[in-house]
Amino acid sequence: MTWEVVIGLETHAQLRTQSKIFSGAAIAFGAEPNRQACGVDIALPGVLPVLNREAVVCAIKFGLAVGASIAPRSIFARKNYFYPDLPKGYQISQFEIPVASGGGLTIRVGEREKYVHLTRAHLEEDAGKSLHEDFHGKTGIDLNRAGTPLLEIVTEPDMCSSAEAVAYAKALHALVTWIGICDGNMQEGSFRCDANVSVRKPGNPLGTRREIKNLNSFRFLQQAIDYEIQWQINEIEEGRPIRQATVLFDPDTGATRAMRSKEDAHDYRYFPDPDLLPLEIKADWIDEIKADLPELPQAMQGRLQAQYGLSPYDAAMLTAARAVGDYFQQAVSAAGAENAKLVANWMQGELSARLNREERDIAASPLSALQLAGLVRRVADGTLSSKLAKEVFEALWNGEGQDADTLIEARGLKQVSDASAIEPIIDAVLAANPKSVEEFRAGKEKAFNALVGQVMKGSKGKANPQQVNDLLRKRLEG
Ligand code: ADP
Ligand code: MG
Repeated sequence: MTWEVVIGLETHAQLRTQSKIFSGAAIAFGAEPNRQACGVDIALPGVLPVLNREAVVCAIKFGLAVGASIAPRSIFARKNYFYPDLPKGYQISQFEIPVASGGGLTIRVGEREKYVHLTRAHLEEDAGKSLHEDFHGKTGIDLNRAGTPLLEIVTEPDMCSSAEAVAYAKALHALVTWIGICDGNMQEGSFRCDANVSVRKPGNPLGTRREIKNLNSFRFLQQAIDYEIQWQINEIEEGRPIRQATVLFDPDTGATRAMRSKEDAHDYRYFPDPDLLPLEIKADWIDEIKADLPELPQAMQGRLQAQYGLSPYDAAMLTAARAVGDYFQQAVSAAGAENAKLVANWMQGELSARLNREERDIAASPLSALQLAGLVRRVADGTLSSKLAKEVFEALWNGEGQDADTLIEARGLKQVSDASAIEPIIDAVLAANPKSVEEFRAGKEKAFNALVGQVMKGSKGKANPQQVNDLLRKRLEG
C-alpha cells in the first residue's frame, strides 16, 4: 500500500528592523528580561500602536522577490486568545488581506526542480516568552519579544516529502537573508517553521493534517516530518482516523506529540484593529524598493550558467547563500572567467569541507576570496599540482602566508614538470626496485602505480604526476 504525503509550511521570519512593529522599543536578542518592552508591548491602558515603516519595506521586498502581488491596501486584525505571554489578550496580525499574495520559490532536490507556490505573506507581531527554567517550579514571563516584527510566509500544500520541505525551508532561508530582511539565526528563533503534514491514497482528497509547531533547525524539520508521516500511516492502517491537531516535536525522543486540538479561524474572533489605519502602499513606493533590490539567487543562477558555463547544480550551490555568491563573484573576478569552474570546484570541495569541519560561515573564512583566486590561478597554469595546492591551501588557511605566490616562492613549492629534473629520480627508483619492474613487465599494472608513487615520493611530491606517468611508461616500455 503506498501513501502520498502532503506538506505545507508556515514560516515565521523575524524582520531586521531596529525597533518593534508597533512601538519604539528595541528588538536586540539576549537583553535582560523585560528591559525591552515599553507601554505598548506590555499593553498599558490608553497606549496606541504605530506601524513601523521599515517592517513594511521588508514585507514589500519579500513580496517582490517571490513574484507575489503586493496589496495596495491591507488591514491589521486582532487575533484573540488568552496566554500569559500575550498581555493585550490579542495578537495583531493580518487576516483577510495580507500584504503579499501568491508568488513562489523554485527548489531543487537532487536533479529535480520544483516550484513551490506561496499562498501569502503577512505582517504580525510576536508574543512574549514564558520561561520555565530557573524559577523553582514557577514560570517567568519575559516580554522583550512581545511586538517583535514577523513576516509569516505560508505555502500551498505543495511539498510531498521531508526532503522537499527542507529544500524549501533552505531556499526561503537563503532568500530572506539574501535580501537582508531577516538575520536567519535559527538558534535565536529568527527563522522558525511550522510543518502541516497529512497523508492520503493517490487520487483521494487531501487527508486531515496535523501541524508541527516551531521547528528551529533543518534537521528537526526533517526528523519531525518523517516521524509524523510514519505515525499517521500507522494510525490509519490500524483503523484510527487522524484528528486535526497542533503537535510538538521533542528533539530528545525524535517523536511528535499532540499539544492541543486544532483551533479554527473563528475561534480567534478576528476583527479589524480599530487602533490602526489600513496600510496603503503606493505603486511608486514599490518601484523605489524594487530598484533597490540586489540581484536575486534565481537570477544569479541563470547568469552563472550563461556567463561561465556552470552546471545548474554548481549555480545552485554557489547561490545557496548571499555570502557564498559574493565570495564566488569576488574570486572569479580575480581568477579570471576561464577559471570559474575551478573556483567553483575548490569552493565546493576543499573550502566547504574545511568550513563545515570548523563550523564556520564562509563570511568568516580565514581564506579570502582573493587568496583562493591566487591559488586557483597557480593550479590552472600548472605551477601547483593538486597535492601542492592543498598544501598551499592549508598554509593560507592557517595564516602562514599572504598569498599563494609568496608561499610558493618561500617554500619552493613549484611543481616540477621538467623532464631533466624528473628522469634522474626515475633512474634511482628503477634501480632500487627491480622486483616491481619485473612484475610490471609480467603484466602487473599495480606494480606501475607503486613505481609512480616512489618517484613522486622521491620528488617530495613536487613532480608533475602526469609527466611522471608518461616518462616512466616510456622508460619501461622503451
Ligand atoms: P492555519 O494553520 O492558520 O489554520 P491554513 O488552513 O491556511 O492555516 O493552512 C496552513 C498550512 O497548512 C498551509 O501551508 C497549507 O498549505 C497547509 N495545509 C492545508 N491543508 C493541508 C493538508 N491537508 N495537508 C497538509 N498541509 C495542508
Ligand atoms: Mg497554522
